[in-house]
Amino acid sequence: MGVPKSKVLFDKAKKIIPGGVNSPVRAFKPYPFFVSRADGSKLYDTDGNVYVDYCLGYGPLILGHAHPEVVAAVSEQLEKGGLYGTPTELELELAGLVTKLFPSIDMVRLVNTGTEATMSAIRVARGYTGRDKIVKFEGCYHGAYDCVLAKAGSGATTFGVPDSLGVPIGTTMNTLVVPFNDINAFEDVIEKEGADIATVIIEPLMGNVGIVLPKEGYLKAIRDITEESGIVLIFDEVITGFRLAPGGAQEYYGVVPDMTTLGKIMGGGFPIGAYGGRRDIMETVAPVGRVYQAGTFSGNPVSVTAGLATLRVLLRDETVYKRLASLGESIRGALKEVIEDSGIKAQANGVASMFQVFFTDRPAVDYRSVKTSDVKKFMQYHGRLMEHNVFVPPSQFETCFVSKAHTEDDVNRTVEAAKATMGSMGHDR
Ligand code: PLP
Repeated sequence: MGVPKSKVLFDKAKKIIPGGVNSPVRAFKPYPFFVSRADGSKLYDTDGNVYVDYCLGYGPLILGHAHPEVVAAVSEQLEKGGLYGTPTELELELAGLVTKLFPSIDMVRLVNTGTEATMSAIRVARGYTGRDKIVKFEGCYHGAYDCVLAKAGSGATTFGVPDSLGVPIGTTMNTLVVPFNDINAFEDVIEKEGADIATVIIEPLMGNVGIVLPKEGYLKAIRDITEESGIVLIFDEVITGFRLAPGGAQEYYGVVPDMTTLGKIMGGGFPIGAYGGRRDIMETVAPVGRVYQAGTFSGNPVSVTAGLATLRVLLRDETVYKRLASLGESIRGALKEVIEDSGIKAQANGVASMFQVFFTDRPAVDYRSVKTSDVKKFMQYHGRLMEHNVFVPPSQFETCFVSKAHTEDDVNRTVEAAKATMGSMGHDR
């Protein structure tokens, strides 16, 4: 059979791209497969393998790969030009949809990535309040830039310690980190530091440690406390926006923040991000106000067109979200049974069209419990699922997604693959 083409390509890539990949999570051992095309729920690699895909570009592809309406809309737009550097009616249409769907958003600014969205929202919150400190939660990810690359050290709350070289300690000094799902720890930090805190930024459910749901009443309590303290509450809905419900987690959980960040699904598979919120807050943004933020590709017609086409498909059929949730439920239910039958110490978490298996005997309710997972076991599970032509993201700390393109047949095949995989991983109860 010879050496797989993906291995040959990866060996070449490692010489000219750090780690052979353009984003760290894509690298896994012995080598990642290189994709030549994708369609619906399937990825096709350069060696002729076909995988049922639950990574879905890390969340954006809620319609699956290459949805015909998205492809047609983007192709048509490309004929008309891919970048104008001027306003378009398309941007207006997308902004109109977003302000209609998200209860917290009166005004919205489009950017190019989720990273840019949260970075800008934090700047706006600081500019609006005139305060410097921010609160983030252990295990919540808001992008790869300095002030949010911090998690907790020991203790319930601490000054953030950089997670990466190259981040000056001074940059994270204003970042306070508290554990997710622990309202007492949150109250403590607000009591001590509240007057200096500009913003609290949170993923309403943690989607970057696998998936961890908020406890009943937790988000509402955070909303009440921030409101009392004049702190801008940002929901980072880069994953949950248009995923949990058309209006994201704020619609799903019925809690309205002051600002919201979006990305992923909103670009229909093309780069996009957005931040928005209350009118008085958003009017601090240039050129109206004095908070500066700008971007050459912001609101580019290709990403906006792909996003609009995606949202049109999602919104015109009321059953889409129900069906997605029911597929998610089938997978979670089946995984729980497989875990039980195999005797493996693991948990299946999730909600709506998201799921993940944690290889730990502890309920996965926060960053610390999630970190007790056996990552080696997870990678074993990942590798064996691939042998059965099922692809989940190659990390214990990512979330699996289901798309509109996934079928009952895909789910059944996945459950069979999980049975064979967990069965072969042995009894360790
Ligand atoms: N916020 C959340 C919740 C995310 O999950 C991500 C990316 O996964 C980001 C922000 C950063 O988005 P991007 O990778 O588009 O910069």
